[in-house]
Amino acid sequence: MGTKDTIYEGLFNYGITRRDFMKFCTTMSATLALSSTSIPKIAEALQQKKKPYAVWLHFQECTGDTESLLRATKPSIAQIVLDIISLEYHETIMAGSGHSAEKALHDVVKNQKGKYFALVEGSIPTKDGGIYCVIAGKTAVEIAKEVCGNALVTINVGSCSCWGGIGSAKPNPTGATGTASVVPGIKYINLPGCPANAENITATIVHYLTFGTLPALDRYNRPLFAYGKRIHDNCERRPHFDAGQFVRKWGDEGHRLGWCLYEMGCKGPMAYQNCPTVKWNDGISYPIQSGHPCFACASNDSWDVFGPIYNRAPHVPGASYQATADKIGAAVVAGTAAAVATHAVIRTFLGYKQKERFSKEKNEADKMK
Ligand code: SF4
Repeated sequence: MGTKDTIYEGLFNYGITRRDFMKFCTTMSATLALSSTSIPKIAEALQQKKKPYAVWLHFQECTGDTESLLRATKPSIAQIVLDIISLEYHETIMAGSGHSAEKALHDVVKNQKGKYFALVEGSIPTKDGGIYCVIAGKTAVEIAKEVCGNALVTINVGSCSCWGGIGSAKPNPTGATGTASVVPGIKYINLPGCPANAENITATIVHYLTFGTLPALDRYNRPLFAYGKRIHDNCERRPHFDAGQFVRKWGDEGHRLGWCLYEMGCKGPMAYQNCPTVKWNDGISYPIQSGHPCFACASNDSWDVFGPIYNRAPHVPGASYQATADKIGAAVVAGTAAAVATHAVIRTFLGYKQKERFSKEKNEADKMK
């Protein structure tokens, strides 16, 4: 793949019109939570800067992040951007294999040292000399050190490469961990999720191309534009939470009416990501909208801390809508004991009120038949 053309030219060759290109720049500006004055800057960068080199590494994972990237039959412009950047190595989608594939990777590391993006999918096993993930005779630890250690920036795509993901859940048999703990000192950004959202990957790259820096990060190295807001505060089921209207059984009336999924294990009150606004599948839906509880997939150690998926969380942190993730983390620790006791009382009361509502709504529905 060549690098002489720009992302704009690549989009143009894909049949994307100037109008659609400007719409894309506007969407990126909104996704990145930037002011409208950034739109011409984004457009200028994508028109003038050469496509960046990038390599995509696979370690211990299910390829869900790649699936997330390739999922749509009609790809969004964000996906096309990822398609047309000079992605020189990606084991799942590249045509080459064996020695030619390895050569492509090593050529980028050698010839583009300090200039390429390393996108990493999957956790890195560290136990027993790292033998649980070996590619072309090298362990994942060795590959990460070589490739991420020489990259401009490492983008950890999905929870596994950020901090180990499901592979690191107790008892973590392979000693799975994230890229940054294996290659300390690298410049990196975490885009956790199970899987990560393609729109957030694209926005991160667009931000780097436009401003030459990573976007503002939280203490987990996650971009604030994507992980700065609580899912619970943007959830369309929130009015039902506030009204004490909960789904209590799969397929019950509350489920059919779109009520709150907290009792079914939703961890939205503790989870931070832009799922309710960006969504998946070209903005069609996301798990909660589709009737499934959030399991805080973008949180560190979500499997051990927030699991099992369908167990109700013991409490809801009483944080204000604008509170940051860090403040809530502190509030959770301080408020747990009191909140559990309070919630038990509220739950009993709300359960009673909920029964009343169910029967009232059922009577009204019966009258309409
Ligand atoms: S608990 Fe879950 S479903 Fe209910 S309002 Fe919060 S995020 Fe939405």
